[in-house]
Amino acid sequence: MALKPGVVSGEDYITLVNACKEGGYALAAVNCVGTDSVNAVMEAAAKNKSDIIIQLSNGGAQFYAGQGMSDGFQAKVLGAVSAAQHVHLLAEHYGICVVLHTDHANRKLVPWVDALIDHSESHYKATGRPLYTSHMLDLSEESIDDNLSECARMLKRMAPLDMSLEIELGITGGEEDGVGHEIEEGADSSHLYTQPEDVLQAYDLLSPLGHFSVAASFGNVHGVYKPGNVKLRPEILRNSQALVQETHATAANPLNLVFHGGSGSEKAKIAEALTYGVFKMNIDTDTQFAFAESVGKYVMDNARAFKYQIDPEDGTPYKKQYDPRKWLRAGEEGFIARLDEAIADLGSAGKSLAQ
Ligand SMILES: [Zn+2]
Repeated sequence: MALKPGVVSGEDYITLVNACKEGGYALAAVNCVGTDSVNAVMEAAAKNKSDIIIQLSNGGAQFYAGQGMSDGFQAKVLGAVSAAQHVHLLAEHYGICVVLHTDHANRKLVPWVDALIDHSESHYKATGRPLYTSHMLDLSEESIDDNLSECARMLKRMAPLDMSLEIELGITGGEEDGVGHEIEEGADSSHLYTQPEDVLQAYDLLSPLGHFSVAASFGNVHGVYKPGNVKLRPEILRNSQALVQETHATAANPLNLVFHGGSGSEKAKIAEALTYGVFKMNIDTDTQFAFAESVGKYVMDNARAFKYQIDPEDGTPYKKQYDPRKWLRAGEEGFIARLDEAIADLGSAGKSLAQ
C-alpha cells in the first residue's frame, strides 16, 4: 500500500483513509494560517513519519492571502489557492503524504467552497488532479433534509474531480472562526449528539454519489471550555456504524468518521473513538496556544530586544534576537512539539504510506 509522497487525492486518498481505519489510527488535521504553520505541520509529519492533513478555515485562508487585501471574499478564495499551491510544490520533498482540506463552511460560505471547486476544475484539466483533496460543509444548523441536499449537490460537482466531501451532522458545541454554537449551563444537551438515523440517511443519499466523511457530534466541543454538562460519548459513533452496517450488510465501520473539537479531549476517549472508524481528528486551539506560548516565552526571555534595536546603555545590537526567523522559529518549534503529542495520541507515527 505504498503511495508517492506529496498531496494525495482520489483513489490514493481512499487508500489512506482505509489504512487508518484498518490500522486503528487517525491523522491529525491541523488548521494553518500561513507558511509558518504549513511548514511546521509538514516538518512534524516528516519527523514522525506520519501522513497528515493540512486544513484552512475561511479566516485562515483570508489571512494567508493577507489582511490587507480589500476584497475579503477574493482573499478567502485566493489565500486557499495559494496555500494549496505552496503545499503541492513542497510536500513531496518532505517525504510524506499530505491531504489538503478546507474546514467548516456554513451556508454563507457555500460560495467560497464552490469557487474553490472551480479552481480544482482548472487544476484537474491541467494536471489530472484536483487542487484540494476534500472540502467540508457544515450545515448542521439546518434541517437534515436541507443539509443533505446541499451536500449531495456539492458531492456531484466534486466526485468527477476525484474529490471527497466532509459533512457535519449534529451540532458540535463551541465556536471556531465565527462558526459556532453556544452551550448554556444546565441546558438540555441532547441536540448536541448526532442521531444514528441521521447518519444512515446521509449514507443512503451520499454513498452512491462519491466519497464522503462525517463529522458526528458525540459531545465534542470546538475550542477548549470549562468542563460542562456535555460528556464525550464515543459510543454514538459505534451505534452509527452499527446501524449502517446492519442496514446495508457492509463490512465493519462503513463510515469514514471525523472527530471535531479534539483539543483538550481526554486521551482515553480519543483512543476509544479511534476504534469506531475515526480516521481524522481536527486540532487547532491546542496548536495555536503552543505557537503563542513559545513565542511568548521567547519574547519574555529577550524582552529588551523587543524594546530597543540597540541597548541604549551599552550599545549592544539586538539584531540576532529580534530577527523574525528567531521568534517565528520559536513558535514553529512549540507548534511541532504539540503535534508530536497529537500524532502519538492518534497512533499515526511511523505509519506513513509514502515511499
Ligand atoms: Zn465541526
